[in-house]
Amino acid sequence: TEPAPALAVPQAGDPALVLLERIGTTDPASLDDYRAHGGYTALRRAFDLGPAAVIREVTDAGLVGRGGAAFPTGRKWQATAAQPDHPHYLVCNADESEPGTFKDRVLMEGDPYALIEAMTIAGYATGAHRGYLYLRGEYPRALARLTHAVAQARTRGLLGDDVLGQGYAFDIEIRRGAGAYVCGEETALFNSIEGHRGEPRSKPPFPVEKGLFGRPTVENNVETLVNVLPILTRGAPAYAAIGTPTSTGPKLFCVSGSVARPGVYELPFGATLGELLALAGVRDHLRAVLLGGAAGGFVRPDELDIPLTFEGTREAGTTLGSGVVMAFDDTVPLPRLLLRVAEFFRDESCGQCVPCRVGTVRQEEALHRLVGRTGADAADDITLLREVGRAMRDASICGLGQTAWNAVESAIDRLGAYE
Ligand code: NAD
Ligand code: SF4
Repeated sequence: TEPAPALAVPQAGDPALVLLERIGTTDPASLDDYRAHGGYTALRRAFDLGPAAVIREVTDAGLVGRGGAAFPTGRKWQATAAQPDHPHYLVCNADESEPGTFKDRVLMEGDPYALIEAMTIAGYATGAHRGYLYLRGEYPRALARLTHAVAQARTRGLLGDDVLGQGYAFDIEIRRGAGAYVCGEETALFNSIEGHRGEPRSKPPFPVEKGLFGRPTVENNVETLVNVLPILTRGAPAYAAIGTPTSTGPKLFCVSGSVARPGVYELPFGATLGELLALAGVRDHLRAVLLGGAAGGFVRPDELDIPLTFEGTREAGTTLGSGVVMAFDDTVPLPRLLLRVAEFFRDESCGQCVPCRVGTVRQEEALHRLVGRTGADAADDITLLREVGRAMRDASICGLGQTAWNAVESAIDRLGAYE
C-alpha cells in the first residue's frame, strides 16, 4: 500500500496523539490493522449504551463542530433523533475547501475506517440508516481509500443490513463534489446531492428538521465525527479533561506558509498560536498569520499569545474557523495576497443573492485599484470596502458572502495593510 502522505503529519508516531493516533502507523487499506489498533471498540460501546446514552456522552464531552462554526454536536444529534418524521439522514461534510485547510484529507487518507466507524455511530445515535459522505472532488486518494474501506466494511458485516449482528441497518454512499467551494455550505451540499444547482437554502429551517430530501438530517464535518471515537472509548469525562472547559478535546491545525515544517498538527485546545508556530518552525521576519482561512482573519506577530480556543480567539477579535494557520513573512506582498483572497470569493460566489454577487466583484475591483497605493491615496477605496463589506456581512444568505470581507478587514485594521 502507499505510505501516509509525506510530511503532512510531522508529529506522526507520537503516542500522545488522539485523533492522529493511527496516521502513518496503521495501514489505511487494512481493516484488520485498523481493528488491531483499537478500531470498532467505539461502535461496540455505542451498541452497549444505546442511542440516547451515546448522545448523552457526546453532549457531556462538550464536543462542538470542527468544520468552523463550533455548534454543539450533541444538541444537533438530539434535535435530529427527536424528529418524528422519517427517514433520518446522516451527511458527512468532507468537502473540505477552505483555503489552507487539509486536516480532513489527512484523516480520510490516513485512517479511513475511523470515519466509517464514526459515521455508523452517528447514524445509530440519530436514527439514520443511510449516510452520505460528500467528498471534495479534488481528493482522489481519499476517494480511493474510502471506497475500498466502505467495500471492506460491507463484506465484513460492519455496514449493511445487520451491523455487527446488532440488528441495526446502516450503509454509506460516497458522493463527489465538482469543485465548488459553496457546496461545502451544508444546504448547498444537500442540493448538490439531490441533483440541483449547488446553491445554499435559507435557514431556518435547519437541517436537523428539514435537510437532505427535506428530511431530518445530521450534517457533521469529518474531524467532528472522528472525535466521537475517543469520546466513546475513553468516556466523556476523560475526553472533556483535554483542552479547556469551554473548548474540550484535541484539535487539528493546518499549518502552512512561511514555516519549516508545514502540515497537520494535533494539540489540546488552549495551546497558544506561538506554541503551535514554534512546533512548525516559524521562519524569521514574520509579518502576519491568517487564522481560520480566507473566511477568518489576520493577526500580527505580537499577538502570538492568543490561546487556540474558540473563546480565546473570539475574545481576541478573530476566529479559529476550521483550524487554518497560514504564516506569512515579510517577502509576501500583502496587497497582492488580499487581491487573491478577493478573487477567490468573487469566483466562488454562487451568484444567488445580490450583496454577495455584486459585493465580491466591487471588493475585488477596489483591492485591484489599491495595489501599490497607501495613505491618503488609499482612503476612498478603503471607505468603499467598508461599506461593501458591511452589506455583504449583514445581508448575504450564506456564510460565503457573510465572511468574504473578514480577511480584508483584518488586514486593514490589524496589519495596517495600506498605511
Ligand atoms: P452556522 O453557524 O450557520 O451553522 C453551524 C451548524 O449548526 C450548522 O450545521 C447548522 O445547521 C447548525 N445550527 C445552527 N443553529 C442551529 C439551530 N438553532 N438548531 C439546529 N442546528 C443549528 O455556520 P455554517 O454557515 O454552517 O458554517 C460556517 C463556518 O464554516 C465558518 O465558521 C467557516 O469557518 C466554516 N467553513 C469551513 C470550511 C471548511 O472547508 N472546513 C469551508 C468554508 C467555511
Ligand atoms: Fe450564493 Fe454568496 Fe448568496 Fe451564499 S452569500 S447564497 S454564495 S451569492
